[in-house]
Amino acid sequence: MIKISHLNHFYGEKKIIALESWEVKQGEQWILVGNSGSGKTTLLHILAGLLVPSQKASILEINQQSIQMLSGAKLDKFRAKNIGLIFQKAHLIPTLNVIQNLLLVYFLAGIKQDKKHCKEVLAQVNLQGFEQYYPEQLSVGQAHRVAIARAVLLSPSIILADEPSAGLDDDNTTQIIQLLKSQTQQYNASLLIATHDNRIKQAFEKKLCL
Ligand code: ADP
Ligand code: MG
Repeated sequence: MIKISHLNHFYGEKKIIALESWEVKQGEQWILVGNSGSGKTTLLHILAGLLVPSQKASILEINQQSIQMLSGAKLDKFRAKNIGLIFQKAHLIPTLNVIQNLLLVYFLAGIKQDKKHCKEVLAQVNLQGFEQYYPEQLSVGQAHRVAIARAVLLSPSIILADEPSAGLDDDNTTQIIQLLKSQTQQYNASLLIATHDNRIKQAFEKKLCL
């Protein structure tokens, strides 16, 4: 699933990431913990192929594919098909309604659009009937759930979530974490959540400390 060996990343002189070796198997659920500034977001961005490590890693593989060998459109397609990304903010396109935000995923991946499946996934995140809503009409928790629906839409084998509970109250946090866990289990995907939120830490057995 994810295989890393000798991954180092610097910003200037400052070493941000120093990972000797790390492996995430299919279906495993991990949290990445560490104080603010410890490199959690940087590592997620490297894994998503959004950031190239400053030193070439010995191994940096996702689903047996070295992501260091990919670039441009090939990398974008690989990401769209294999990785579901959830950022701290939902980052929905404000001029598109909920269902259009989901349909965009197919377009970016170069896959035929499947509206029926979008509706099914929206129902799974408890948003049936919200298809025509625009992002500004959603609560923070609802927007987060759309972002989760978007991330799992193409059944990615890896889901990366960066501080998914930031700005959420306790009830919404519990709901989002349960949803992330159940959705990833359903697709037998691996889940990686970067967080410094103590409310989340108990919910996971596997932990990488940065
Ligand atoms: P975390 O997500 O754990 O809070 P980050 O990965 O965002 O940590 O950042 C790790 C460190 O790298 C921080 O000290 C941050 O200031 C620094 N950093 C992040 N992005 C950049 C950048 N583009 N240029 C220089 N330094 C950066
Ligand atoms: Mg961060």
